[in-house]
Amino acid sequence: MGSNRHMAADSRGAHTPDAARVAAPASEAPAGSRIYNSISRRASLMQEPVLVLNATYEPINVTAVRRAMVLMLKGVAQAEELHSAEVHSAAHAHQVPSVIRLLAYRHIPQQSRALSRKNILLRDRNTCQFCGRVFPSSELTLDHVLPRSRGGRSSWENLVACCYRCNNTKGDRTPEEAGLKLARKPRPFTLHTSRQLMRLIGHRDDRWRKYLFY
Ligand SMILES: [Zn+2]
Repeated sequence: MGSNRHMAADSRGAHTPDAARVAAPASEAPAGSRIYNSISRRASLMQEPVLVLNATYEPINVTAVRRAMVLMLKGVAQAEELHSAEVHSAAHAHQVPSVIRLLAYRHIPQQSRALSRKNILLRDRNTCQFCGRVFPSSELTLDHVLPRSRGGRSSWENLVACCYRCNNTKGDRTPEEAGLKLARKPRPFTLHTSRQLMRLIGHRDDRWRKYLFY
């Protein structure tokens, strides 16, 4: 960690724009800011998304670099694609993965996501399902499409992201009664949904592309 060369261009990723940036000639910026950029990039590097593949190369999840490296160190997963940067500890240079693959096949149940506020907002992409506007999570609530007072259940099919304004308008009524229309029929958060999200997260990363678009 003592070195200011926390990042070095990795030859295997040298064709990517990222690598080009990390390996950019020093003339682009004064040395001081380069060191600062390198340190601040390292902290955020550990939080960058890593695509997780099943043993069969099927994309199943997205995790952070830090977690992915733990899985690799434990021998649970191996890197399939490398990030253009690497992390240096006192004695070693660690390759940073962009895509990892589990070494043992993991059965993924059809509905693998827990029913939670966070996952409902994720499924609905932070979009109020009545007015269609996008909000920060703090400005969204969950609406029971069929109100609880009318026997509506707390389920994937009956809960949607909803802004406070629409929630007030709707009150204890069904969308039809309130003159509101659902943007789309709420469905369970399946692997299919997850894959759409993975595509959204990874659409700019060429290293993810071949696993996600097929
Ligand atoms: Zn709304």
